[in-house]
Amino acid sequence: MHEMSLCEGVMQVLKDQAHEQGYSRVEAVWLEIGELANVEIESMRFCFDVVTQGTLAEQAKLEIIEVPGQAWCMQCGKTVALKQRFDACPECSSYQLQVTGGEQMMIKELEVN
Ligand SMILES: [Zn+2]
Repeated sequence: MHEMSLCEGVMQVLKDQAHEQGYSRVEAVWLEIGELANVEIESMRFCFDVVTQGTLAEQAKLEIIEVPGQAWCMQCGKTVALKQRFDACPECSSYQLQVTGGEQMMIKELEVN
């Protein structure tokens, strides 16, 4: 379950930021997760609760913003929505797609005290 290490990464950022910005409580975290990032939202929520236990982010609210997958088709030159990596182009059925969005996972916003 790689969501655990992803959450540990998030936690590390929260700690580093706390040090830099001088906050002592994290109330809420907005995480942007791409549709193609291979992240299971439910596991993410579970791991987040585990990882934040006993930390400055304990009980913090986890808000997840899902970002749709997007790709550029080399065949028809269109930008198309992509549900899964290695799907065919919905316009022309080509597999020559270049993913242009929805692969990322990042902290979008924090609510701190
Ligand atoms: Zn196409």
